[in-house]
Amino acid sequence: MAVYAHFARTGTAPTVQDLAATTGFAAADVRGALGALHASRDLVSRDGRIVMAHPFASIPLGFSVMGASTLWWGGCAWDSFAIPHLLHEEPGVLVATRCPACDTPHAWVVGRTAPPAGDQVAHFLTPVDRIWDDVVHTCANQRLFCSTRCVEAVHKEPGYVMDLATLWRLARGWYAGRLESGYKRRDPVSAAAYFAEVGLRGPFWGLTA
Ligand SMILES: [Zn+2]
Ligand SMILES: [Zn+2]
Repeated sequence: MAVYAHFARTGTAPTVQDLAATTGFAAADVRGALGALHASRDLVSRDGRIVMAHPFASIPLGFSVMGASTLWWGGCAWDSFAIPHLLHEEPGVLVATRCPACDTPHAWVVGRTAPPAGDQVAHFLTPVDRIWDDVVHTCANQRLFCSTRCVEAVHKEPGYVMDLATLWRLARGWYAGRLESGYKRRDPVSAAAYFAEVGLRGPFWGLTA
């Protein structure tokens, strides 16, 4: 919770020293806890540095997310669209990126009440059952493109393409409760049910239909 509170408030990852100060734990215990949270896939740390605590990231992955007074690296398309749903004081954020195929800039104000307008598409490269093989690579390849044509210019074998409304629905409830105590990551069965409910289809999402 200290990691998430720091990311939410500042847009940056806390250091071991930050976490020791806010929790009262010794630095060695903080390092141990970060290792355990990395092993349980509750965050991603490398060399004692927090790289991701989904939907937050401390490295650029193609997106910026600008709130009223805070700027976040948005992680992937999914994560960037999720941030306003977690932050009650940010009813709408400016998500900005460039098309990986043609470098056209794209930006949307993403809020909680309805999907942003736009005919761009999201492309996810990695099927859901392999997301955690290399989660940074997975997130780096969940991007927004001008069109299916731009997706196909980069990916000879595309993964999964969805419109902005589907991306927004996917992002809306996925991280519900993430900033609060008692949060549990979804198990594969409830994750699949959620994917079906927001309109995703097929084996890419672990679904039979
Ligand atoms: Zn991501
Ligand atoms: Zn493009």
